[in-house]
Amino acid sequence: MHSNITLKVRILGSGTSTGVPTIGCNCPVCTSDDPRNKRRRSSILITRKDNQENIVIDTTPDFRSQILDAKVSKLENVLYTHTHADHCHGFDDLRAFYFFNKTPINCYLSKELHPEFKARFSYAFTNTGYKGTTPQVELKETPNKPFEVIGLEVDPVRLPHGTMQSTGFRFGRFAYITDFKAFPKRSLAKWKGKIHTMIASGVRYKPHPTHSTVSETIQLFQDLQVKKGYITHLSHDIDHRRDSASLPPHISFAYDGLEFEVVT
Ligand SMILES: [Zn+2]
Ligand SMILES: [Zn+2]
Ligand SMILES: [Zn+2]
Repeated sequence: MHSNITLKVRILGSGTSTGVPTIGCNCPVCTSDDPRNKRRRSSILITRKDNQENIVIDTTPDFRSQILDAKVSKLENVLYTHTHADHCHGFDDLRAFYFFNKTPINCYLSKELHPEFKARFSYAFTNTGYKGTTPQVELKETPNKPFEVIGLEVDPVRLPHGTMQSTGFRFGRFAYITDFKAFPKRSLAKWKGKIHTMIASGVRYKPHPTHSTVSETIQLFQDLQVKKGYITHLSHDIDHRRDSASLPPHISFAYDGLEFEVVT
């Protein structure tokens, strides 16, 4: 495994579970003209700059349009954070990659969530006699220790999220974590000072029973000594322009289509 690999990261979606605008809502953010207030469900695309190999984290209900916008034609690896609908219900759209690439996609998911995932998408784990009707995937257990995907060392972290745990991922000096209430102390000690750029969820300002808030996520970036932080999984409580003004200079709200480069 190598370090000093340049990655291109694209925010495929920066919204909370409903997306923004939220169906039926007429609030100022949901009716705003600012494209940065239009948020599809949270997901990112990571591309190795040297060989164009891709990783997607989560297949959201908006996956198809996110992938078409990002012009991705080849995908061999998906890392799942957890099995909430907003993170995996675009799973069926993985089918199309097989039509052109004829390569099954490795889908990494924490072991304890496999039964639920297989029950939810049982058709994909049944022989239908024709490969076009089901996503062609290899469901793999996300190890509890560093592992390798497209030649990158991936350091997983387990995070409390209501009745389940989500998994976050660190690729050298870049990390992505979403859907967590708090960051465990012993993981904090492991990751502190190692991360240059990090994306983490922070749903809103008001306290949330299963999610970190904007202020808690800002504090986490400070505790981890992150140089550049992006807050994602945003609800319609966040107006990008209005609320960006109150963020520390090294922290920004993520928005759909945002791209940047990081070195592992
Ligand atoms: Zn979510
Ligand atoms: Zn709204
Ligand atoms: Zn969740």
